[in-house]
Amino acid sequence: LLAHQERWESSARTYPRHLPIALAEGSGSFVRDVDGNVFIDFLAGAGVLSLGHNHPELVRAVSQQLDSLTHGLDFPTPAKDTFTQAQLSMLPPELRRRTRLHFCGPTGANAVEAAIKLCKIATGRGDIISFRGAFHGSTHATMALSGLVSQKTPVRNGMPGVHFFPYTADGPAPDGPDVNGADLLEQALRDSNGGIPLPAAVIMEMVQGEGGNIVARTDFVRTVREVTRSLGIPLIVDEVQTGCGRTGTWFAFEQYGIEPDVIVASKALSGIGLPVALILYDTALDTWAPGAHIGTFRGNQLAFAAGAETVRIIRRDDILGNVRRQGDRIADRLTGLTRNPWVSQVRGRGLMWGIELADRSDGRPATEVAAAVQHHALRHGLIVERGGRDDAVVRLLPPLNVTAEVVDMACSILVDAVSTSAN
Ligand code: PMP
Repeated sequence: LLAHQERWESSARTYPRHLPIALAEGSGSFVRDVDGNVFIDFLAGAGVLSLGHNHPELVRAVSQQLDSLTHGLDFPTPAKDTFTQAQLSMLPPELRRRTRLHFCGPTGANAVEAAIKLCKIATGRGDIISFRGAFHGSTHATMALSGLVSQKTPVRNGMPGVHFFPYTADGPAPDGPDVNGADLLEQALRDSNGGIPLPAAVIMEMVQGEGGNIVARTDFVRTVREVTRSLGIPLIVDEVQTGCGRTGTWFAFEQYGIEPDVIVASKALSGIGLPVALILYDTALDTWAPGAHIGTFRGNQLAFAAGAETVRIIRRDDILGNVRRQGDRIADRLTGLTRNPWVSQVRGRGLMWGIELADRSDGRPATEVAAAVQHHALRHGLIVERGGRDDAVVRLLPPLNVTAEVVDMACSILVDAVSTSAN
């Protein structure tokens, strides 16, 4: 199958280059490849499989829905209504009262596009402020908002008016000197003589996932919120990766004591990898016209059925508690890795962890070492992702219902992988 893919598929494919396996089936936190090898899956469909592969109750919900309606455009349907109520019920009550919801089409990037459009229409302004290291998607506009210069250069960017500010991390700054991005942002916005014009929105992640699992510092996020609020700039929080419980609260912004104006969610909404994306936003921004953001696939009833069931199970089984417990367990099992001179940081929040590998002589990203760790882990039965600057961060995104036993198995494979590959 890998050879077939090599022969027929585009050069732009990604995962199988780093993880050369062909998948046959999955169950819970495990997948089996076509040769019968079993792996612990700490990639979990890029963070979409919040309840693991083929959760039986989700499979049942989807198959029941298959019998009644699969695709509903943006018509009201019982499945959509149940899903919508379930989503709103997860918001802090204050926020819920003044929130609107828009279904955006299947992917995170669609929802980010909608969020930007919403804010541009509501403010009548054009520019957007983003942060270094951000990732918001692969469409032209969302790519322009992302840090990945290597992706932008060949297509000549395409969307003017994006300004980047430093992202201030919790703990030592992974990318050099520790400047507070929020202070620089405030200076630039208040400077009438050489600053930047008021933007339509500021967009940020609470934890930069693709950027290498960099957790934002609390005062940084709060200052961004204060400055944007005082200047009347909508704050978009991109929770595509951090949302739906990944960091131990339903949305990561809850841990920062802020309220965004727009929340973007997608990946894990259905819990089982069926595509769905939405934005939740302040009623005050609701000035766009009917049809302002459309898309054929905004009514995936199977995703709605699975998503409502996911919320029910997350509540019933205290999955958010599990995220926090297993996150602490990962921290406990992996912090010792920082004694290895190639490991510059182990960092994360909830079930979103990163091990950053850096050259001990000059601190530069140790991409080869990170690749060796990833391959060693794969050979020993663990699938992990890489990301961050030069792909030098080994990233863990286990299912949110992962057990302590599986966490221990995975961490011991990782500890072994680091000590073998980084010496
Ligand atoms: N925003 C964030 C924070 C993401 O992590 C991603 C996907 N990794 C996206 C947006 C884009 O989502 P999608 O790939 O579904 O378009």
